[in-house]
Amino acid sequence: MNRRTVLEAMLATGATALLGACGRRPSDGKLTESPAAMPQGNVHAPSSPLMPVTFLAHGSPLLLDDKRWVAELHAWGGALPRPKAILVLSAHWVQSPIRIGATTPVPLYYDFYGFPQRYFEVKYPSPGAPDLAQRVKELLGKGMSTTDSSRGLDHGAYIPLIAMYPEADIPVLQISIPTMDPGALVALGKALAPLRREGVLIMGSGFLTHNMHAIDWDGTAGVPAWASEFDAWNKDAILRRDVDALVKYREIAPGVETALPTQEHYVPVLVALGASLGETEAATFPIEGFTYGSFTKRSVQFG
Ligand code: ZN
Repeated sequence: MNRRTVLEAMLATGATALLGACGRRPSDGKLTESPAAMPQGNVHAPSSPLMPVTFLAHGSPLLLDDKRWVAELHAWGGALPRPKAILVLSAHWVQSPIRIGATTPVPLYYDFYGFPQRYFEVKYPSPGAPDLAQRVKELLGKGMSTTDSSRGLDHGAYIPLIAMYPEADIPVLQISIPTMDPGALVALGKALAPLRREGVLIMGSGFLTHNMHAIDWDGTAGVPAWASEFDAWNKDAILRRDVDALVKYREIAPGVETALPTQEHYVPVLVALGASLGETEAATFPIEGFTYGSFTKRSVQFG
């Protein structure tokens, strides 16, 4: 199946509802705010070295209260080559056909509820990325995407970015995840892969485990077996870049039915996987461990 056929199949899948926040319980803590936006960077530079591609666990708005997690993300951001622009696919924007978000500064999309007001006052005034948006349209093919010029970054995008790049001086573009079909999402990653040689950091944002019914806010009960088994299975499959296994995760992975009552938080890793194919690069895990009991923080870097 060629790229266009795959993307046309994705378009035929139909729209999926926007998804809610990862969590609802508020807690005390300090939020980070960022300085004013910097000018738009030049995205298209085909001679750039190969940029790594990432998948990260994004937590809830409460992540910014977790000093250790913020430090882990910040260290990761500092260790990565500095991108000319960042392309984010977040679990919190599932819509078909692919929507291309705002390319000019617009308010963040506070896609959660039940939190204290201060969580709705967080800012991340990153520059828009119109050049990248145009390039994404080209890579997806004519008629394969639409624009949503008013849609700001959701918390799956801006929460980790605040920790990784607190200066908010790198252009960011968010696009929607168009389908839950694993094979089509690997194909989407392949279609976006040329951006890696143009200085773009492709970032999938979700959670490899995401069962809100099993959340243990204090983590006192430990990590349940289904979560550790599913996490270990993914670690192994990702290290081997076993595409055949990963696209069948719903059928063969241990613990998957409990780990993932819904699929939107998992599938961004498949886009990252797709963007890694064709390169001889190793997978690494810059962040590991569990939070809220069963939620794995495992985050992946290819290259
Ligand atoms: Zn989430």
